[in-house]
Amino acid sequence: MKIALLAPAGAMHRYSGSFGKSLHYAPLTLTTLAALIPEEAEAEIKIYDETAGKIPLDIDADLMGITCITGTAPRCYAYADYFRSRGITVFMGGVHPSMLPDEAAQHADVVFTGFSEQTFPQFIRDYMSGSYKKLYAQNCDFSIENKPLPRRELLNKKRYITINTVEAIRGCCHRCSFCAYPAAFGHPVYKRPVKEVVAEIEALHSRHVLFPDVNLIADRAYALELFSAMIPLKVMWVGLVTSAVGIDDELITVFRKSGCKGLLIGFESITQESQQYIHKGVNRVDGYVDLMNRLHDNGILVQGCFAFGGDEEDTSVFERTVEAVIKAKIDLPRYSILTPFPRTELYAQLEREGRITERNWAMYDVQHCVFRPKKMTKEQLEEGTDLAWRLTYSTGNMMKRLMPLRSSPWLSIPLNLGYKGYADKWHKFTRDVMCDNSDIPVAAER
Ligand code: SF4
Repeated sequence: MKIALLAPAGAMHRYSGSFGKSLHYAPLTLTTLAALIPEEAEAEIKIYDETAGKIPLDIDADLMGITCITGTAPRCYAYADYFRSRGITVFMGGVHPSMLPDEAAQHADVVFTGFSEQTFPQFIRDYMSGSYKKLYAQNCDFSIENKPLPRRELLNKKRYITINTVEAIRGCCHRCSFCAYPAAFGHPVYKRPVKEVVAEIEALHSRHVLFPDVNLIADRAYALELFSAMIPLKVMWVGLVTSAVGIDDELITVFRKSGCKGLLIGFESITQESQQYIHKGVNRVDGYVDLMNRLHDNGILVQGCFAFGGDEEDTSVFERTVEAVIKAKIDLPRYSILTPFPRTELYAQLEREGRITERNWAMYDVQHCVFRPKKMTKEQLEEGTDLAWRLTYSTGNMMKRLMPLRSSPWLSIPLNLGYKGYADKWHKFTRDVMCDNSDIPVAAER
């Protein structure tokens, strides 16, 4: 059986798009799915990740899986329609189909909701027996203990900044109103046994590890256990946490000792009112400078993410945020626009208020405004975000943020230059560009 696994990408992230290939790490979804295919299927598996290369239109497969987030949904549907018209059975899963399975079912033969640890192997067995369901819904009652290792050998290593992506903990304990992750997968937190994570890292025979988990400190005791066990490995790692790490000296110390070199933190806003608006009470804006100082003192760089467009924000927020980012010396700032993903609390609120103005999911890429902001216009929000990018990544302001050079300039300088390129090109991604899937043939009538 031939199985093709696809990860279509939005216009900004497609290979040869505005991001250079060096800014992408190898995602885990498709390599994990490949590992879940039962041996008895004797499958010939190929992976096509559109952030790392074009998806050929002449793929030869019996079965095709497509992973889909909201911003890529129209493109995923276009691929699904086209490949189904060529006689390939298409299944689809991911965040967006988990939230809107009926919509995905209009384009796929089979839809998966939630994670797929149990349902995906079951589907493959059902397919082999000639009878499968249209919907496979994974419940929360499963474990990621003994999970098979991702099939990294199926990726084109040269196309990624690293393929050493390792999962440790899945899920998040917080309830931010804009976040698609708990909306799609609920709130359980799944933990791999520490010894399994350590064994996987050892088997990589690499000094670099990236944890793509949405919140590495969703369970503090687990984080302490994991990173204490990693100290003897002498690796360098990066991952995602919340700003709660800033009030935890013990965690920061263990992070440093275990080789933490970089953390992604969702600061979201410089005002506490906006944190309340998005239900991100874990963030304390008056502690950001102190947090940055403590992380820098421990040799840890920070990618700090901000989302503009909360109801409390007016047009002064952009320059005030840039000033705050420079003052806190955030190593790699990243700006987005608050986006109401379907099935989130934010979406429900804005829908109730009649403020959703855009229905094409391709625009839900967190860089375009899809709703009517309260204290500014949509155009002011987009132009202000563009301004924040350009001011932050001007040569002078990059110097102010990065000087004096701290540890790991080999990491911070190339990433800043990559983001500077992105900041310079951001305005080119107009609605016409974002929504254009004309490179995928329109499917013949089925
Ligand atoms: S802390 Fe991060 S992952 Fe968790 S709900 Fe909030 S935005 Fe989502």
